[in-house]
Amino acid sequence: MKINGGAEPFMVNATAGTTVLGAFDPIEEIADICEKYNLWLHVDACWGGAALLSKKHRHLLKGIHRANSVAWNPHKMLMACLQCCAFMVRDKTGLLQRCHSARASYLFQQDKFYDVSYDTGDKSIQCSRKPDAFKFWLMWKALGTSELERRVDRAFAMARYLAQEIKKREGFRLLMEPEYANVCFWYIPPSLRNMPESPEFWQKLHTVGPAVKERMMKKGSMMVSYQPHGDKVNFFRMIIISPQASREDMDFVLDEIDRLGQDL
Ligand SMILES: *Cc1c(COP(=O)(O)O)cnc(C)c1O
Repeated sequence: MKINGGAEPFMVNATAGTTVLGAFDPIEEIADICEKYNLWLHVDACWGGAALLSKKHRHLLKGIHRANSVAWNPHKMLMACLQCCAFMVRDKTGLLQRCHSARASYLFQQDKFYDVSYDTGDKSIQCSRKPDAFKFWLMWKALGTSELERRVDRAFAMARYLAQEIKKREGFRLLMEPEYANVCFWYIPPSLRNMPESPEFWQKLHTVGPAVKERMMKKGSMMVSYQPHGDKVNFFRMIIISPQASREDMDFVLDEIDRLGQDL
C-alpha cells in the first residue's frame, strides 16, 4: 500500500470514546483491515476504556483484544487521582525496552537472581517516575470490580436520563443520542425559539454557550463545558462521571442553564 510520495501507513489509531462526542469507532471492522494490510492497531481508549468494566456496555469496545496497543486513563471515568494512565502493548518481545532502553549498566543490572522481565524501569523514557499504577491498584482493591462496574453503569444511566430530559424540554436540543457519558446539547434561549434556522440563527446560537458559561462561573453554580465541533456551532457538553451525581443534579443542570440564559 503506497500513497503519494511513497509514504507508507504503518498504523491505525482508533478511538474508543472520543473526547467531545463520546463516540466509539468499530474496532472489530478496523482490526480486520489492519490484519489484512499488516498495520499496527492502536486503540485510544483513554476516555472510553472504563466501559470494559460494565458487562452491559463493554460491547462498545468489541474487538479491542485484537489491538496491538491500548491507552487507557483510569483518571477519567474511574476518577483515580490525576494522573493515572495505562499504556498496554500486546508485544512480548521487549518492544518497549528496544525503543527506550538506555542500557545503563549501573542502573538496570541484568544478572539478578530473579526474572528481570518484571523490572519496568528500563522500558520507559524517563528513569524516575511516580508509581501511578499503585493508586489504581489501591482503588480497585478498596472498591472491588463490582463497585467500579456499578459506577460505570450509573454514569451511563445518568447520561441517558439527562438526554431524555433534554428531549422533553422546550429550548433544549440534543446533538445526538449519547453513546457514552457525554451529553451534547444546545440551549436555545426564548429570543431565538421562533427564528428560522438561518445562518443568523446559528451565529447567535454560537454565542449562547460562552455567555451562559461565563454566568455560571461567576455565580459559582456549575462547570459545564462548551465547544464547537466540525460544522456545529458551540454546544454544551455535560460529562457524567461522579458516582454521587443524581437525577436531581441532572435536572439542576438544565434548570440552571435555563435560568442563566433566559434573557439572551
Ligand atoms: C483525555 C484524552 C486523551 C489524553 O488524556 P491525558 O489525560 O492527557 O492522558 C487522549 N485521548 C482521548 C480520547 C481523551 O479523551
